Amino acid sequence: MKNLWNNQEAKKFSKDDLSLRVYSSRLLGQNPELVLHGGGNTSVKGIFMNIFKEPIKTLFIKGSGWDLKTIEKEGFAPVQLEYLLQLATLSKLNDIEMVKEQRLATLEPQAPNPSVEAILHALIPFKYVDHTHADAILTITNTPNGKQKIKEIYGSDILIVPYVMPGFILAKKIAELTSSIDWGQLRGMILMNHGVFSFGDNAKHSYDRMIDIVNTAEKYLKKKNAWKKYAKSKVKPDLITLSKIRKLASEMTGESVIGKLNHSPEGTGFSKHQRAISLCLSGTLTPDHVIRTKPFAWIIGQNLEASAKNYTSKYIKYFKNNKNAGLTMLNSGPKWALWPGVGTICFGRSNKEANIIKDINNHTFRAMQVSDALHKWKPLPFNKLFEVEYWELEQAKLKKENYSLPFQGQITLITGAASGIGKSCAEIMLEKGSVVVGFDKNHNVVNLFHNNSNYKGYTCDVTKPKQVEQSIKSIISNFGGLDILVSNAGIFPNSVPLESISDKKWRHDIDINLTAHHNVLRACIPFIKNGIESSVVFIGTRNVGAPGPGAGTYTIAKSGLTQMARLAALELAPHQIRVNIVHPDCVYDTAVWTKRILQDRAKQYGISIKKYKSRNLLKKPVHSRDVAEIVSFLASKQSAKTTGAQIPVDGGNDRII
Ligand code: ZN
Repeated sequence: MKNLWNNQEAKKFSKDDLSLRVYSSRLLGQNPELVLHGGGNTSVKGIFMNIFKEPIKTLFIKGSGWDLKTIEKEGFAPVQLEYLLQLATLSKLNDIEMVKEQRLATLEPQAPNPSVEAILHALIPFKYVDHTHADAILTITNTPNGKQKIKEIYGSDILIVPYVMPGFILAKKIAELTSSIDWGQLRGMILMNHGVFSFGDNAKHSYDRMIDIVNTAEKYLKKKNAWKKYAKSKVKPDLITLSKIRKLASEMTGESVIGKLNHSPEGTGFSKHQRAISLCLSGTLTPDHVIRTKPFAWIIGQNLEASAKNYTSKYIKYFKNNKNAGLTMLNSGPKWALWPGVGTICFGRSNKEANIIKDINNHTFRAMQVSDALHKWKPLPFNKLFEVEYWELEQAKLKKENYSLPFQGQITLITGAASGIGKSCAEIMLEKGSVVVGFDKNHNVVNLFHNNSNYKGYTCDVTKPKQVEQSIKSIISNFGGLDILVSNAGIFPNSVPLESISDKKWRHDIDINLTAHHNVLRACIPFIKNGIESSVVFIGTRNVGAPGPGAGTYTIAKSGLTQMARLAALELAPHQIRVNIVHPDCVYDTAVWTKRILQDRAKQYGISIKKYKSRNLLKKPVHSRDVAEIVSFLASKQSAKTTGAQIPVDGGNDRII
């Protein structure tokens, strides 16, 4: 493992002790082989000046909810050191009391809640303390006689701590183990089945020690010929089956989830490992992970439904075997699955959550194989994992991430998403929690919502069936399925009377405004049949009910599209897929309405552009957002009994009413 300390960089953080704490915490955080997604914690001891200019001995410790990779100064809670040390002398302190007491001892009202390891950090008499869940260490501790191996590898300057529950119990254990120890002789601690601590008088010292301790473990694994021993293989996954698996996972969870397939060479290699099934049923890399991944995976069998039932009854059994009075079972839905011969699939209520689980899963199955190559994978037993999974404090962390958005866990494809109505639909569906995939010829679609992890854009010409098929397959590989299609891409061609429409114009306009919708629908149907509350919404036009002279190809194509929507409603109803169409008009904030076209249309009616824009009954302009609101309504549960409907979004048109 590379030591990432850079003196030049560190200098920029040398203003004070806390700045350097930020710097070296980020060094730890950016190495996924040390910590993953909010795992681990760090601290620095210093002085806090109160309003009376009185110095208070303080522990600045990572606040819960912060990630070491991106932590800022505000991410460290200042806590009175003496108070924490006093807490450590109590013989008992339950978790809720501990959190309350730590909060009371915090010197800044806006500070995050101090880490549950604050008391332990306070007990370590070094200025800087670093704690990680390093893969290399865990692969050794998670084997039979792991403690013996650690003893062989490290000298007396590393304290070996048997596994106990994190929090107050762990702090007490360390206090007990170190009561007659000279801390000056120690440079770190290895917590069996959990992780590693290092400490030092300055930030570099503590960080260097962490890297050294981990490197020693890596060297040992190399010597034993177990280092990075993972299988690799290749496979072409069956995407229809994948969409069925993701649907089942959603049903088991009781809400829609994204399914992230890992069929990388390593993912597939692992799924073909001869011990893959028993490895996936055996526990987590570090106890912390159990709240995200559950203690074991769903093993997908030939009979999907039977294997799903098997998983659920296994989880119920695990709960019954370990519960104490008063505990309610958590959602038993699987967090990840082993798809033998293909790879692993991670499930989450958002793309972000699924990705976090995928990262943890990646490190876990690598570690499993390394442990197996070394000796044999043997993580903490289920009863210990259960304590953490059902630990009140961990549950509180998860509650913060709870989603209750209407389209959470669903996957929506929107064509023509780079601008206008398509873009507004993408915005609204993202706001309401859906994963959104945008297709557009315009490659701006790729980076349209680059800050939103639920968005993915594809440059895709929907008039090209092969491209459409490929892109839709890629959606399934990425998210596990497809639920909602908003078929929007289209153009408003220039006005030409019927007698003058050329063959070329006819084919071109019909191709984009009609055939392309069929290309997309046809490629989506096999997958939305396995979707969750599946729905299709087409974007038509007011012209279908009230054509305007000159807009021949446009009106004819959109009328054909309306018939297609009606037919689709009939054909897809047996699969519980609803199909509806909206007919917008007077929407001028779209790419379709160039100034030239506006002039053109106004001229057709013999009126000014201004008049042309306000010719609806409500005399109000219609915006893309207005159309998107109706589209999201038609895609939602609120319209669960509506299919085959045509809804105008045109401000009212007397020729239609
Ligand atoms: Zn930990």
